[in-house]
Amino acid sequence: MLRRFFSYYVPYKKLFLLDFGCAILAGLLELSFPMAVRAFIDKLLPAQDWVMIIAASVALLAIYLINTGLMAVVNYWGHALGVGIETDMRQQAFQHLQKLSLGYYDNVKTGHIITHVTKDLEEVGEIAHHGPEDLFIAVMTFIGAFILMATVHMPLALMTIIIVPSMTWLVSRHGSQMTNTWRKLFGQIGDFNARIEESIGGVRVVKAFANEHQEEKLFARDNVNYKTTKLQAYRIMTASMTLSYLSTRLVQLVIMVAGTWYVLKGDLSYGGFIGFLLLVEVFFRPVQKISSVMESYPKGIAGFRRFTQLLDTAPDITDKPDARVVSALKGDIEFDNVTFGYSTGSTVLKDLNLTIRAGETVAFVGPSGAGKTTLCSLLPRFYDVQEGAIRVDGLDIRDMTQQSLRGQIGIVQQDVFLFGGSIRENIAYGRLHATEEEIWQAATRARLADLINSLPDGLDTIVGERGVKLSGGQKQRISIARVFLKNPPILILDEATSALDTATEQAIQQSLSELSVGRTSLIIAHRLTTIQNADRIIVVDDSGIVEQGSHKQLLERRGRYAHLYDAQLTRA
Ligand code: ADP
Ligand code: MG
Repeated sequence: MLRRFFSYYVPYKKLFLLDFGCAILAGLLELSFPMAVRAFIDKLLPAQDWVMIIAASVALLAIYLINTGLMAVVNYWGHALGVGIETDMRQQAFQHLQKLSLGYYDNVKTGHIITHVTKDLEEVGEIAHHGPEDLFIAVMTFIGAFILMATVHMPLALMTIIIVPSMTWLVSRHGSQMTNTWRKLFGQIGDFNARIEESIGGVRVVKAFANEHQEEKLFARDNVNYKTTKLQAYRIMTASMTLSYLSTRLVQLVIMVAGTWYVLKGDLSYGGFIGFLLLVEVFFRPVQKISSVMESYPKGIAGFRRFTQLLDTAPDITDKPDARVVSALKGDIEFDNVTFGYSTGSTVLKDLNLTIRAGETVAFVGPSGAGKTTLCSLLPRFYDVQEGAIRVDGLDIRDMTQQSLRGQIGIVQQDVFLFGGSIRENIAYGRLHATEEEIWQAATRARLADLINSLPDGLDTIVGERGVKLSGGQKQRISIARVFLKNPPILILDEATSALDTATEQAIQQSLSELSVGRTSLIIAHRLTTIQNADRIIVVDDSGIVEQGSHKQLLERRGRYAHLYDAQLTRA
């Protein structure tokens, strides 16, 4: 893990060396002050040599200034290093998230992912800067101060270091406790981020059911869990801080008494005594800093673990190294003995065989939960089949790159997802570099032109988060315009109009029929009246395909379809 962590420093080698070098210099200068004080008191003071005293003061001033400069460099460039690493990791995490398949997203909460990419990495960035530097400086200060103390007075120096083993024990013991606690805490931050996400995202449902109170209660639970863990973290931190403070002060007291005794015995000079006390201060500085270290290290380590966990989650679906980039497919589709389930053990589709000719319009009907959406999700390889194969134009879709395969398929779903930007941006999502004219053309074919012309901002009208400022029919038209712009040979319409009222449905139906012209179309429809003109209608239920044929053929057969059709007619 350590090696992996340090691999992120590679692009910042120079910055790291600069930062590290300055930090070491500053550390050495810090060590030299007590010695300078000793020389001042023992040599310059008794001689009353004012020229030397002034010269020495000027020299000290120069050293102070240099030290200030060094610390400024460490402060800025050190943090720049940390921020650089944090940014790289964040980009990598986001890139990885883009690669992960839908199967991953079925099982995670958005709030948790947001926490990984924001909070966790912020903490990692913090130790990326302070971690190695502080650790090294601490060790250097410890050893350096000890050597200097030993040169001043050996017995006193030995008295000072008796404390080191117990300190080491304390740090390591509390350190691992803290890492666990922070890890738990990050999980809890994820929990309440997820709660906020859901509650705000579902604010219409919350208000419609007047369940604000319930939401508050659920949030309070997560919030209290967070508080409990955080207090636990601060208890551990306080314990180590108190213990380290008390023991270093006790040692200082011992040194005071013993030092006085040595001075009285004539074994130690006044300057040596004061210099020694200052060295003890320097020696214990890393120990005094233990509370901040106890906070930032375990946080950073916990954050980095979660980051690596995310990166180590392999996408379920990957391109083969020799995957083909396909383009301009004709749209012949073949499901060859396909078996699929979302998790091992449960099967949604079993031994499904189905051939769809290029340009054919095939409609799927059947009860909810029969697996119609699932079947259509397999074609763009949102999930991989467990057995069998799906071929397009004779080529297994697993031998194509996902990107090029998906570039050949347009999907219009019941739930339209619009991004928070303008109508223009949302249509252009179908083809990012489309020209203004192409966007207008797509909008016109999706029958959006009148709406857009009636808006004061036209194409630049902001649709609101997820398109809240538009009606269901308008949103659906935008998603249709996207697919017109994309112009793929294969089209999937998954209950595209089921959420709309009958009048809107009829109006949109025209755009959809136009959209499916010249494309292989898979249409899932709830209202059977919308699919009568399909080349083939396939009736599915839990057991698979039960009948297929044209509307006329199926009605004549008087089977399941005819039954469903009659039922819908009488209801209408
Ligand atoms: P239909 O579109 O015909 O209504 P679906 O294909 O959506 O049916 O669902 C078929 C079955 O698969 C259902 O039992 C459903 O619970 C299950 N299912 C659908 N999506 C998922 C998913 N993302 N994870 C797990 N199970 C799912
Ligand atoms: Mg469905």
